[in-house]
This record gives sequence, C-alpha cells and structure tokens, in this order.
Amino acid sequence: MDFFKQDLINWLNEKDPAKIQELYRSAYAMKVKHVGKVVYFRGIIELSNICTKNCYYCGIRKGNENIERFQMTDEEVLESAKQAFDMGYGSIVLQSGERSDPKFVDWIEGLILKIKAMSNGKLGLTLSLGEQSKDTYQRWFKAGAHRYLLRIETSSPDLYKKLHPEDHSFEGRINCLKILRELGYQVGTGVMIGLPYQTVEHLAEDIIFFKSMDVDMIGMGPYIAHHDTPLAKEISNRLDNFELGLKMIALTRLYLEDVNIASTTALQAIKSDGREQGLLAGANIIMPNITHTKYRRFYQLYDDKPCLDENAEVCRGCLEKRISAIGEKIGYGKWGDSKSFENRTK
Ligand code: SAM
Ligand code: SF4
Repeated sequence: MDFFKQDLINWLNEKDPAKIQELYRSAYAMKVKHVGKVVYFRGIIELSNICTKNCYYCGIRKGNENIERFQMTDEEVLESAKQAFDMGYGSIVLQSGERSDPKFVDWIEGLILKIKAMSNGKLGLTLSLGEQSKDTYQRWFKAGAHRYLLRIETSSPDLYKKLHPEDHSFEGRINCLKILRELGYQVGTGVMIGLPYQTVEHLAEDIIFFKSMDVDMIGMGPYIAHHDTPLAKEISNRLDNFELGLKMIALTRLYLEDVNIASTTALQAIKSDGREQGLLAGANIIMPNITHTKYRRFYQLYDDKPCLDENAEVCRGCLEKRISAIGEKIGYGKWGDSKSFENRTK
C-alpha cells in the first residue's frame, strides 16, 4: 500500500470512530492475507532486572534504588523454558536489563546452549538483551539464538536525547541493529508510543524508519509512566497512548504488510483486552510472560504491570480463551518466522 508521511500523520490524528474502525479492519484483512488467522506465541522469561543503563522512562533503570535486584538461576530459567516447550510454545524470548561484562556474556551463552539441548534444537530463541559488541552477538548467534529484539525507542535522534542520559547513544543503537542483521539474526525493533515530547510526526517517521531498516519484527507499545523514574513527572495520557498504539499497529501492518508485529503487554496494562484489540488491529504475535511469579514484581518497567500472580499455565488457559473468542487460533509448536524474513532468505 502506498502511504506518504502526510497520510500517516492524518491517520494518527483521525478522531472519527467509524474511520478508525475501518482502518483496523483493513489492517486485520492485510494480516489475514499474509499470515492467516494465526497468532504465534513467544514465551518471555525476564532473566534479571540488573541494568547498567539509566533510560529516563524505565522502572528497572540503574538509578532506581527502590527495587530489589534479582537474577534467575540456570535451573529456574531452564524450568521456565521447558514448561514453555511442553506447553507447545514454538519459541521463547530471553530478556533482561543491559549488562555486557564477560560473566554475563558467558552466562547467556551457556543458557542458550542448555535451552537448545533441552529442546533438541526445536525451541526458537529470541534475545532482548540490549546493546552488545559484535563479538558477543556473534557468540550468542553461534550458540543458537536466531532472533534479536532491540527497540530503537524513537527514530528521532533529538527525541532519543531527551529520553536518555548523555552517554546513551542513538547512533550506537542503530549500529547494533545493522550488526545484528549482518550476522544473520532475524531483527526486531520498535518504539514507545505516547512518550512525553513525542509528536505524531515522530510516530509517522518511526513507521517509515521500520520500512527503511527492512526489519522482520516490530515490538512497539504504549509508553506507561513508572512512578520512580525521571520521566514520570512529564504528562502523558494513557488512554490516548492506547489508541495511538492500536493505530500504529494498523498503519505498520498496512505499510510493511508481511512483518511480524507483537501485540504487547503494555496494551493489556491499560485495558484488560488490550492485546486482543492489538490482534484485531493487525498484530500477529503475543508474548506471554512465563517468568516465575516470585520475580515478576521486581521486573516492572512501568506501573500496573498485569498478570503479576498468574503462572504460565493459567496464563496459557486465559490466552487460549481470549484468542479463540476473536476467531483466531494459536500456532502451537511453530517458530512463526515472519514472511518478510522467509522471502528475503529464499
Ligand atoms: N534492556 C534491554 C533494552 O533496553 O533493549 C531489554 C529490556 S528493556 C526493559 C525492553 C523494553 O522495555 C525497552 O526497549 C523499552 O521500550 C520498554 N520499556 C521500558 N520502560 C517502559 C515504559 N515506561 N513504558 C513502556 N515500555 C517501556
Ligand atoms: Fe535498562 Fe533496557 Fe530499562 Fe534501559 S530500557 S534502563 S537498558 S532495562
């Protein structure tokens, strides 16, 4: 579909509910055309909330002294991975705060090898562990990780500067995305929607950025304030961010057509059926939380994180009901690679 920046801006500004519903319907039809009525699961394990960075919006930033820090044991990570595998989840995501010390790099490499061995190479593995050196990305790829999710957070260098301390580099992050692609990972990126100082022009440019980077996955969701962060003092309206979040999914689906798009937990944090609404606006991936419940309250990026007490089994049951209620089915046992990636590597 041919969209120009001004079309994207007009849609993001659109207030007429009938027109907005029409946008979601078109995006959903595009999703069905490319991936069918299937939703793929990526069970997410939040390995550790120890972070060396200080992003102004994030609840687990290094400067937040009001949280207890944790790191899961190998046994706990493997137990969660096995549970996901036994439940038929085709793939999992390992996510954590950012660290790049040798001990951390070795630990992750060991975990990848163990998870691959446990599942006979069958469980797909995505990493979301921030910015790393080329050598580290390469080691993790060789060990068996095949997807990497690194949100650019905003494609505007100026806005990026307002959201991060001086030593956090926008160019460094772009460079990481390029290296990941060069090494053969399926690359995912994304942004937060409704950030303080962000305009609809920025969001339109984000969608154009996704296309220019030719990424395989998009994971984006509404920004939600965390009370213990510097950005929380700036005004941001959750409900506006929710609607903008759905519009961004729909416009990205219409503009990029065959990529994987996640319906993120932040949508559910604002409205209980937020993830289903995301699917009906064109998303095709859900990332159920499979972290042990004892750690979930310590990994709160934003206020009101949902499902703090629901274990992986309960979570799966609840999602199955919600997904079949909207007429979609779950692609159990499949990696669910994006069509864009399949086409590129044919
Ligand atoms: N540390 C790694 C990184 O930054 O890429 C991975 C984990 S980080 C917690 C994952 C994502 O959480 C970030 O890319 C950011 O977009 C999102 N996030 C952090 N704080 C948030 C907030 N207040 N609202 C919504 N999303 C947030
Ligand atoms: Fe750390 Fe990632 Fe949070 Fe930034 S967004 S503070 S790198 S966990």
